[in-house]
Amino acid sequence: MTAPLLETMRRGACPSLSAPMQTGDGYLSRIALTGPVAPEAIISLCNAALRLGNGLIDISARGNLQARGLSAETARLFEAEVRTLDLPLRSGLAVDTGPLAGLDLQEVTDPRPLAEAIRMRADRLRLLDRLAPKTAVIVDGGGSLSLARLLADIRLKATQGGWLLSTGGTETPEKAHGLLPWDEAPDAALALLSAMAKQGPRFRGRDFTASEVRELTGIKAAPHQGGVVLETSPFGRFALNNGKAALGCGPAFGQMRADDLAALMVAVIEAGCEAVRPAPGHALMLMAEELALPKLRNIVAGANLMQSGDDPRASIAACPGQPGCASAHFDTHALARAVAALPGWQGGALRLHISGCAKGCAHPEPAPVTLSGTPDGLQLIVDGKASDLSNTISSNLSMPDMLSRISALAISTPAPAGAKAANRQE
Ligand code: SF4
Repeated sequence: MTAPLLETMRRGACPSLSAPMQTGDGYLSRIALTGPVAPEAIISLCNAALRLGNGLIDISARGNLQARGLSAETARLFEAEVRTLDLPLRSGLAVDTGPLAGLDLQEVTDPRPLAEAIRMRADRLRLLDRLAPKTAVIVDGGGSLSLARLLADIRLKATQGGWLLSTGGTETPEKAHGLLPWDEAPDAALALLSAMAKQGPRFRGRDFTASEVRELTGIKAAPHQGGVVLETSPFGRFALNNGKAALGCGPAFGQMRADDLAALMVAVIEAGCEAVRPAPGHALMLMAEELALPKLRNIVAGANLMQSGDDPRASIAACPGQPGCASAHFDTHALARAVAALPGWQGGALRLHISGCAKGCAHPEPAPVTLSGTPDGLQLIVDGKASDLSNTISSNLSMPDMLSRISALAISTPAPAGAKAANRQE
């Protein structure tokens, strides 16, 4: 471990390719893409992760790839190798669009030009170093894949009447300030970001009052224009505007071995997959001609990946846990697999968050039920985050005790109404 590598990472910042983060299993390097890549490029990434890391790859909740188990030295080599692949790597301020941006048949508008304009202007004003390290902007084209569950300081969502502006947290109708005309969104976003930078790195989008947002952006429409926010699963078939389609699939709990992912890519190339994009919700979008989808579905099923929101594993978010993370108090994936196998446990919207410790990496927002590891055992938390002690209903439980509590909950608590329908993509 050398000082320069540690110095590259601002306190509290998200890891990246050039600023890997130390975890329980070594350094973690995050690759944030701004567009689809050839499946061959994923194979190259996997080979580098196998050679230079411990061979585990995560697809994060925000749809980034993460190589694990690197050393300080191999993290640098990994970065150098990835940069030779000429991938569409995100740099500067985190301004995210959906994984099907510009391709989604149901999109209201292509969000990429606005995202790029915000990123470039923020860079020109050198805002990044003055903003909170995890500042995030979401520009949502309003397509078939919802980004509602992703946290954002500033959110611009395309609607038929213009960009719907919200600040702070996940997407809810209460956070919507109103509609911005199409051409006013870049100035409005920059005004908010500049105001945040002026306040310093502790200030977040959630700290703006409605009147401050109105004053800074000139937004006039009445609040609460967000309407109902529909959450969608990233799994299943999505129609693209080029006559092709994407199959959303994903490994259980967002992690797979790099050699398994490389083998999957070899198989999907053979079946006609032309492009791949990691997606929020620990998913992978496989893009191909419509005719190739049945073959892709078979390959994905053979690899034991999820491809439907009804998969019992889809309603569980679990962090890497032991042995991958030094902070973890138990093997989160073992417990998640045991829960998914319980009779009566259903897929659908997220209902259970399994966290190796109180940090809650896999699901920073409150979840209906959270199991959080402590040195003394497991805590059962209802409607809270992994750190919400006040919402704890049972403490110091062993794994078998917890499993029987969850079993009782699974049978007595039906999946949220409409969750299954919302998760079906066809
Ligand atoms: S929640 Fe805790 S145990 Fe899980 S990955 Fe994050 S730091 Fe590690």
